[in-house]
Amino acid sequence: MTATLLTGIGLLATQDDELGELTDAALLIDGDRIGWLGPAGHAPAADRRLDLGGRCVLPGFVDSHAHLVFAGDRAAEFAARMTGQAYTAGGIRSTVAATRAAADAELRANLGRLAAELHAGGVTTFECKSGYGLDVDTEQRLVRLAAERTPEVTFLGAHVVPEHTDRADYLNLVCGQMLQACAPYCRWVDVFCEQGAFDVAESRAVLRAGIAAGLAPRVHANQLTAGGGVQLAVELDAASADHCTHLSPADIDALAGSDTVATLLPLVEFSTRSPYPDARTLLDAGATIALATDCNPGSGYSTSMPLAIALAVVQMRLSPAEAVRAATVGGAKALHRTDIGRLAVGLRADLVVLDAPSYLHLAYRPGVPLVHQTWIAGQRA
Ligand SMILES: [Zn+2]
Repeated sequence: MTATLLTGIGLLATQDDELGELTDAALLIDGDRIGWLGPAGHAPAADRRLDLGGRCVLPGFVDSHAHLVFAGDRAAEFAARMTGQAYTAGGIRSTVAATRAAADAELRANLGRLAAELHAGGVTTFECKSGYGLDVDTEQRLVRLAAERTPEVTFLGAHVVPEHTDRADYLNLVCGQMLQACAPYCRWVDVFCEQGAFDVAESRAVLRAGIAAGLAPRVHANQLTAGGGVQLAVELDAASADHCTHLSPADIDALAGSDTVATLLPLVEFSTRSPYPDARTLLDAGATIALATDCNPGSGYSTSMPLAIALAVVQMRLSPAEAVRAATVGGAKALHRTDIGRLAVGLRADLVVLDAPSYLHLAYRPGVPLVHQTWIAGQRA
């Protein structure tokens, strides 16, 4: 194994409570782990050295919510929405038709392209959901293809009830044969708990079936309406309640008193011209928040964590430090991961080198490609 010493780090923002932020720092990558970090003057010897010229280094971003295995294009639907039509959950069905018709090679190529975009934007770990197959064979294909790229695969057979299908029959399929076919490839089970998708009782049944099959729950909750999704997520000790755009005071209290992360997805609000979630109140109440892309072909087709961070600062009133923390530590917590999201000795060498002196530039310079290098498990991505 080769050890590489990164020197000339102008600002090392570890996101570790004890280590904090270091200036004029160095970091040793030893194989796939962080071997050492600290003041540049105390750096150990290494096989090779790489001078970063004063740039800022952060943990790699952890994108804990993404829909990346699909076919088709909904640019026309987007354009229609921008000229006055409201977004409804039904648009998913057009992606389902294209995805069912696509060969594995096409789906794999599309996933690979999106993964490359995520890495170019500093994402070093991403979650990937199914949910555009909605039949046993296609859902299994989607989770199998996702598992080729990430260990964080989520079964989302309960995305929407497919057309021309009896609702009760479909729920039985999702909780039975479809779940059994998909579970070997998955770590997580998810449900779109929303008007027009699945109600609370249906969502509870799907998540309980997933838990019984060995999967851990996460929930699409309170995106379009203040329904019961957040309360259900807390009830089942879900890793994450995602969206949280419409919250009651009781929902905020429930999240603050739980281990369930509130995962906020501002690229969706941006792309649908919707009100942003109240991140400030969630944080001030004591909830843990994560930022993720929710990259999907309908409601927000962006892989840019830097843009999500900029929106969280400018539109959701987080400080730049809070937004970066949500995109790193928060995302790791939303995936129950302790080996990523921070920079400390022994953790995985997942890091982002910014072409900037500080992470403040992520929000200060929105839309500018500031990611200079991405390292995943000690290798340049
Ligand atoms: Zn989603």
